[in-house]
Amino acid sequence: MTDLPDRLEIADSVLDLIGNTPLVRLKRLSELEGLACTLAMKMETANPGGSAKDRPALEMILSAERQGVLRPGGTIVEPTSGNTGVGLAIVAAQRGYRCVFVMTDKVAPEKVALLRAYGAEVVVCPVAVPPDDPQSYYSVAERLTRELAAFRPNQYANPDNPLAHELTTGPELWRQTGGRITHFVAGAGTCGTITGTGRYLKRMNPSVRIIAADPEGSVFSGGSGRPYLVEGVGEDFFPAAWAPDLLDEVIPVSDEESFLTARRVSRDEGILIGGSGGLAVAAALQVAKRCGPDDIVVVLNPDSGRGYLSRVFDDGWMANFGFLKECDLCVGAVLGARGSALPPLLYVNPDQTVREAISIMRANGISQLPVCKNDPPFAALRITSTLDGGNSLVLPPRAWAPGRRLRAADGEQRGFVLGKLLQRGADFDRVSFEPD
Ligand code: PMP
Repeated sequence: MTDLPDRLEIADSVLDLIGNTPLVRLKRLSELEGLACTLAMKMETANPGGSAKDRPALEMILSAERQGVLRPGGTIVEPTSGNTGVGLAIVAAQRGYRCVFVMTDKVAPEKVALLRAYGAEVVVCPVAVPPDDPQSYYSVAERLTRELAAFRPNQYANPDNPLAHELTTGPELWRQTGGRITHFVAGAGTCGTITGTGRYLKRMNPSVRIIAADPEGSVFSGGSGRPYLVEGVGEDFFPAAWAPDLLDEVIPVSDEESFLTARRVSRDEGILIGGSGGLAVAAALQVAKRCGPDDIVVVLNPDSGRGYLSRVFDDGWMANFGFLKECDLCVGAVLGARGSALPPLLYVNPDQTVREAISIMRANGISQLPVCKNDPPFAALRITSTLDGGNSLVLPPRAWAPGRRLRAADGEQRGFVLGKLLQRGADFDRVSFEPD
């Protein structure tokens, strides 16, 4: 007992735990890739809110308090993809503010639930509208700010966002690498991370290379701003903190490579990272492969894969987008694996009953069956629809309309006795329509 220190090792509040995140060597990845340099990850998951965004959230609120634009009991409104929201919610909880967050429907549902868990209010807006549409999340945030007389941190324009990284992330990396860092790689969204950190590191040593990782399609790497799936990074406009003069390189990375890299890092290193972390690591690996033994490449991991379990880490979701390598089998190989017992073509005519179709599918162990108007030869054949034996019935384009609910008549129109089947409790649990 006597050699214990007198000083209590208790942080004054959770806010004191923001920043000073660890740097860890990506050891297994470096071995597997045969890297000569040191490749290390800045673990922003170690922040109390689990992301790099705790830093700007704290800086923006403290600065607003200093300027008198945020007063006790005030409200904060911000359009955010989630992580900034968590940071703001944490700081708001400590300092007694109300938070309203505006998000797009592209964001993973876990992120919405997470913000609500911190006591914040969340408004979800459609992603597929231009920024000036009244429904866009930018417009909705503006309206709510006015109506609630709220403080809007506006991370896309607020100089305290990059400043937070200039004051903390940059100095930490300089100290943690003993001033030997040679490359810094990070994804760019608001550009707060890359610009703030880059500004500090370039000031300490102008030859440190600052490299932004960018989703293919985003404007930072010359894209049109077309949609992509990685969350939190890339833009369709240039935010205030975009500072191309600081950047030595912008590396575009596809959704597929970002997600597969996130899964790989999680499995190979035991570090669960999200899609934008995967994007940054994919770019960092490109950089690291060109580097020598004296180089120290630092990649910043902005958040954890926990927020993406229903997407990046869900095999069904990944397979839907064709991202799973396990699906890269030739169709011929799949058919080959079924053996030679399968007849060359199985089909039903529209006047056959669903019962007959199902029994053909069951007998042959298949889940889809074309519905053909006549008999072979098939040159002029029109396949009118397919029956999906995986407990679903797929109807042709004419029957399809977005959001339309199935009525028994839809089935009967096709000559199926679907209504009767449903009445008898047939075992369809999904009926879908093939779009044109
Ligand atoms: N990754 C994720 C998951 C993010 O939420 C963000 C913030 N938008 C970033 C990366 C990029 O950080 P910054 O906004 O500082 O450019």
